[in-house]
Amino acid sequence: MFSVTKSETVHWQNWSGSVHVNVNQICTPFTVEELAAIVKKAKNHNKTIRVVGAGHSFTPLVATGDVLISLKYLRGIEEVDKETHTVSVWGGTTLKELSEALAEQGYAMENMGDINLQTIAGAISTGTHGTGAHLGNIPTQITGITLMTATGELETVHSLSNQALLQAAQVSLGMLGIIVKAEIKVLPQYSLIAHSYRLSFDDCLKQLDALKALNRNFEFYWFPYTETVQVKTMNRWEDHTAMPANAKQNSMLKKLVIENGLLWVMSEASKRIPKTYKAVSTMSAMGVPVGSEVNTSHLLYATPRLVKFQEMEYAVPEETLPQVLQEIKYIIKRKKCKVHFPIECRFVKQDHIWLSPSYGRNSAYVAVHMYKGMPFNEYFSIMEEIFRKYEGRPHWGKMHTCPNQELQELYPKLQHFLDIRKRLDSAGVFMNDYLRDLFQVS
Ligand SMILES: Cc1cc2nc3c(=O)[nH]c(=O)nc-3n(C[C@H](O)[C@H](O)[C@H](O)COP(=O)(O)OP(=O)(O)OC[C@H]3O[C@@H](n4cnc5c(N)ncnc54)[C@H](O)[C@@H]3O)c2cc1C
Repeated sequence: MFSVTKSETVHWQNWSGSVHVNVNQICTPFTVEELAAIVKKAKNHNKTIRVVGAGHSFTPLVATGDVLISLKYLRGIEEVDKETHTVSVWGGTTLKELSEALAEQGYAMENMGDINLQTIAGAISTGTHGTGAHLGNIPTQITGITLMTATGELETVHSLSNQALLQAAQVSLGMLGIIVKAEIKVLPQYSLIAHSYRLSFDDCLKQLDALKALNRNFEFYWFPYTETVQVKTMNRWEDHTAMPANAKQNSMLKKLVIENGLLWVMSEASKRIPKTYKAVSTMSAMGVPVGSEVNTSHLLYATPRLVKFQEMEYAVPEETLPQVLQEIKYIIKRKKCKVHFPIECRFVKQDHIWLSPSYGRNSAYVAVHMYKGMPFNEYFSIMEEIFRKYEGRPHWGKMHTCPNQELQELYPKLQHFLDIRKRLDSAGVFMNDYLRDLFQVS
């Protein structure tokens, strides 16, 4: 008998509550040997397996009625190689744990998204990204992956020995096997200075190229029904002693109060009295936090997101962003979309990862949100029409309805990926109904 925690028919739901399933078994192995035994047993009993990270995806990627595995006991840094500046980390480690452990060793991740609660394996698997036109998504920071395949055996995939398999495994939605460990290339620890300020929609679009080129990290939020944009930039801060007079060291309280408390109050108002959506968006634009902050990089990337929402995000070719936004602005007004959450725009450098939404093209990611409990289908489908018109590729972890035929056209290496999937897992142990349908796998 293995020391595997399991329970019968457990209810599971994701962060946003968009996915609910009753699972036969949730397994939380303590060792790699236990993990292998679970995989072999499931395969022998014709059961399917999905692995869950922190459950922060909005799509039913981890939904299964059979076996759900969590690597919550396989976490932490295993090894730091100070010669190659790479770190080997267990798949169940959250980005928060990883960045804190790296900081203790004098290292940091090259870039991060806007929260740090995801597991490293989950973040890799869906192509999680931050922002920065010169920076790739999180999977581009990975140099090697230790994968447990459907036979229960470990396969090490490394950029030095098997580049093609790594390009398939870097963003693989858990379809090739279980990411037990990942090797990440890291940077010496660094500090950033962050600025937040208001700009008009038109000025932001006019300055887009300069803002992208001149800032390490640049993103902006446009508030529907207004001409206001919040710009956020971050750049390296080398001199810890001479901080600008207005720069704060830690504005966590402000982030909790303004970005969460006030947003929650306004979102509740919008949910209860739907006709207030324009006023709420306008008030949010007026309340944009303006100021600067200096801190260690990992403490600036992540912000608390206590207000729950549903989200759709597409990566469009970066040069199309101005047209995409003009169309979004026009259609929101024309169709009177009831939305008060700002539209988030970020930038990611192109890569060579087969299922990465930034494969082969510099990308602008445009995200639309709806407060949890408010209707989102109509709004998301209006937005999706625009994204798809500009050959947008959906973020795998966020809501979308992109059909298989379009995915085939958008991802030139999709068939190569599916061939490898079939070779590694011909019985489809790691598939669920959602993925079979999405990728037309029988
Ligand atoms: C509040 C919030 C903020 C977010 N911010 C960002 C952001 O800034 N940028 C961005 O790009 N995305 C963002 N996301 C989306 C999120 O980063 C992704 O959906 C990510 O995959 C979630 O990681 P997770 O650990 O929760 O994985 P899950 O959602 O649990 O799983 C995601 C996928 O990874 C697979 N997986 C998990 N662990 C393993 C493993 N060990 N081996 C193999 N496969 C595995 C699962 O099977 C599934 O296919 C955000 C989501 C939320 C809710």
